[in-house]
Amino acid sequence: MDIINQIKNSAVNRPTQLAFKSQAGEIKYLQLWNKSEKIAKWIKENIGGKNPIVVYGHKSPLMITTFLACSKAGKTYCPVDRCMPSERIQDIIETVENEYVLMTESLMERFVNEELIKEDEIEQVNEYTIRYNNNNYITVEKLIEKISNGQNEDTELINEMSEKDYVKEDDIYYIIFTSGSTGKPKGVQITRSNLENYLKWFTEVGDDIYHKCGSKFLNQAPFSFDLSVMDTYVSLASGGTIISVDKKMQQDTTALISFIKENGINYWVSTPSFAAMCLAEPNFGQDTLKDLRYFYFCGETLSKDTAEKLMERFPNTKVINTYGPTESTVAVTGIEVTKTMLEDKKSIPIGYEKNGTKILILKEDEASEKITEAKANEIGELVILGDTVGAGYYKNIQKTVEAFKEITYNGKTQIAYFTGDAGYRDENEVIFYLGRIDRQVKLHGYRIELGDIESNLIKIDEVNQAAVVPKKSGDSIKQLVAFIVTEKLKEDYASRKYVREKLKTMIPEYMVPKKIVFLEKMPLTNNGKIDYKRMETLV
Ligand code: AMP
Repeated sequence: MDIINQIKNSAVNRPTQLAFKSQAGEIKYLQLWNKSEKIAKWIKENIGGKNPIVVYGHKSPLMITTFLACSKAGKTYCPVDRCMPSERIQDIIETVENEYVLMTESLMERFVNEELIKEDEIEQVNEYTIRYNNNNYITVEKLIEKISNGQNEDTELINEMSEKDYVKEDDIYYIIFTSGSTGKPKGVQITRSNLENYLKWFTEVGDDIYHKCGSKFLNQAPFSFDLSVMDTYVSLASGGTIISVDKKMQQDTTALISFIKENGINYWVSTPSFAAMCLAEPNFGQDTLKDLRYFYFCGETLSKDTAEKLMERFPNTKVINTYGPTESTVAVTGIEVTKTMLEDKKSIPIGYEKNGTKILILKEDEASEKITEAKANEIGELVILGDTVGAGYYKNIQKTVEAFKEITYNGKTQIAYFTGDAGYRDENEVIFYLGRIDRQVKLHGYRIELGDIESNLIKIDEVNQAAVVPKKSGDSIKQLVAFIVTEKLKEDYASRKYVREKLKTMIPEYMVPKKIVFLEKMPLTNNGKIDYKRMETLV
């Protein structure tokens, strides 16, 4: 698998085929290749060093074009979606420490509107560059206009970069920031070979995609969530078309379903929550989506209820459950959901490891306190070994050594990723997921560290202590509840609103707890730690 050359093959062999389509626009393979060549050349000439480049925007064709340009110029890109709050975006820009930020839509206007910066602090340097706080913010669309030189990007293949310039096997291909428990997001580093090893996996739980072309993939996840890597790169590597639905359309299921119908999706890639939401539309079924062959899910538990309804409404479509963390490149296990699984007492399994991956299930032996491998049906932590385990967290040695540890398995010493997920392997070698051993939760498909919300809550002057717990219904999380200890705020509607509004400026809206409970003091365990379990019984 050679991702960049696969895209080039499509540009040569099927130049007019769409690579990407969304409400924001579309781009054909030849245009994608040529535009990214031009941007790559500019990057090579203007951006020095190895630090990642933030690429900001939403679901525009310029996003994938700019990612490819970075890869061709030998640079790591870091996708930042518009749906992230401005403070988090500023945090990421500061953390990556690159003088340049590439924008597919205006970020400065947003910062000014939100009064994070003043208009007179920014300087328009040229048609495509704005300077603020020692950083150059480049408007990619204007840059392309400037550097195109009137060359026709629709007819002949442009080759300004050479393979020597491209990101190498062991270089970092992309960095995706995930919620970190300290309130600072962690930048997961994925190498080019991690990505390419992952891409081969798709044929193990689907059909022989790389010998087909022209398939259509649904893109639901924002590019800053690694689930998007599944649809985006499998599609680009197989000469497919990414059909991307923006945030606005995702909130209007009727419009969404007609868009997907119009575009004849073959592969559906989303969180289970998203498909569950679509099930509320009676016309979401095989009659409408005639060409749909596969549902691919990842990122959170696939409930039997959702799987069963999908299998009923889509008799010709397979449902695949996959599992994996960003730290090991999207997904490391997968399985087709069968009727037998739905009838079983157990939950839907996450399946078997992909080739090139070994999952160890490690548990602490109570008597000896030694870490040992769990036997069949024994519960332990899922620990991932293999060719998609990423290169740790960007400039965060402490968090890296906590989660990425050297272990010797079968005589070979290698780096393993400790997921913090609990699970077991049954007697048939099938793996089951049982939830988090730490305090990370999934709400509507979003990965959230409860500690992240807490550390932002206590940044609010009036809040002394904070604890956040999930409110559950059966196995799924319905909402988040924050408990706060405060002397300065009265327990009323206005104070709750005030706390929520403050939080919204610091963390994404989906992380802001729906319910805020005022406490005089935090309940503690015998060890003097906050008693989260007790609080869960109070919500
Ligand atoms: P992320 O890095 O955002 O993809 O989140 C990774 C975490 O999501 C994993 O460590 C699991 O806790 C959870 N997860 C991913 N896939 C599944 C799945 N198929 N079933 C249950 N939980 C999942």
